[in-house]
Amino acid sequence: MHVISQGAVYKGDVTLSIIVPVFNEQEVLELFHHRLLRVLSTLDEDTFEILYINDGSSDRSWEILQTLSAINADIHCINLTRNFGKEAALTAGIEHARGQAITILDADLQDPPELIPEMLAAWRCGYDVVNMKRSARLGESKFKVWTAHLYYRILDYLSDAPVERDVGDFRLISRRVVENIKLLNERNRYMKGILSWPGYKKATIEFDRPQRADGDTKWSFLQLVRLGVSGITAFSVKPLRLSTWAGALISLAAFAYGLWVLAKTVVFGEPVAGYPSMMLMQLFLGGVQLIAVGVLGEYVGRIFSEVKARPIYLVMDIEHKPQANGVVKK
Ligand code: UDP
Ligand code: MG
Repeated sequence: MHVISQGAVYKGDVTLSIIVPVFNEQEVLELFHHRLLRVLSTLDEDTFEILYINDGSSDRSWEILQTLSAINADIHCINLTRNFGKEAALTAGIEHARGQAITILDADLQDPPELIPEMLAAWRCGYDVVNMKRSARLGESKFKVWTAHLYYRILDYLSDAPVERDVGDFRLISRRVVENIKLLNERNRYMKGILSWPGYKKATIEFDRPQRADGDTKWSFLQLVRLGVSGITAFSVKPLRLSTWAGALISLAAFAYGLWVLAKTVVFGEPVAGYPSMMLMQLFLGGVQLIAVGVLGEYVGRIFSEVKARPIYLVMDIEHKPQANGVVKK
């Protein structure tokens, strides 16, 4: 089986690539690796490769990865030059993976490797995308669960391409979906959107998302807000349209109010006063204008980073570089 991809010819001898972004995960890496290997050993008829992307960890993660991969040439470790963020790390993984199917897993065991056989089975049934839907999120704060729930719904409403609700980056995608994803070379990498953009035949498997095995979440609240905004601005221009509509409605209301004030003054005269209403109007209009300028700024900022077209990530070293012809250099 041959798959042609942008000039390179891959021999389809790697069935499954597993992409794992790693950022300061020294507490869980070994446990994760062993659980993953245990699952993969049950899939003996399949050939697989694991791609760990070290996203500029400042702890011992890279050393641990080097040791873990030393005994097996199918374990590739890509060391980025600094922390580029999970979205960039995933992009690096997708660009280096050679498998006929690709899965993305978090290193903290919140995406249980034990579900991989089920995902592969769905893929073999002809599905190009297997989405893993979180039916419950264990051990996460009420606030995070609730805001995530709300966010997925807002994104779904705003986004021009459908984004699956409660599906994170944990999913399986087929080679032809990967090849299409590689064509999206935008700098603003919102992976949930990018991964769902190509469409194709989708299956959904529900699972209860367990707690992090060890260590802490790598996202601060502000980073999550930034990711959220980037998801919306990358996949929709509706906020711009909304601010235009809000502007039009407010102008209309202001015009009507102006007419009324004029009529009232002409008929009854105007004994001054009106400070509170004037203040209120000014503050309200000022606020609305600032929000609209902010929305505009978000998009201009996106254009700014797209125009610069900087690389999404930089690779410092690769342990066991995946070879295009399927041969792995020791
Ligand atoms: N991660 C990464 N770069 C970052 C932040 C996170 O590669 O800048 C990885 C992290 O190591 C983990 C995955 O992305 O494998 C998910 O991160 P985390 O568990 O902290 O996110 P949460 O599950 O809390 O949303
Ligand atoms: Mg996690």
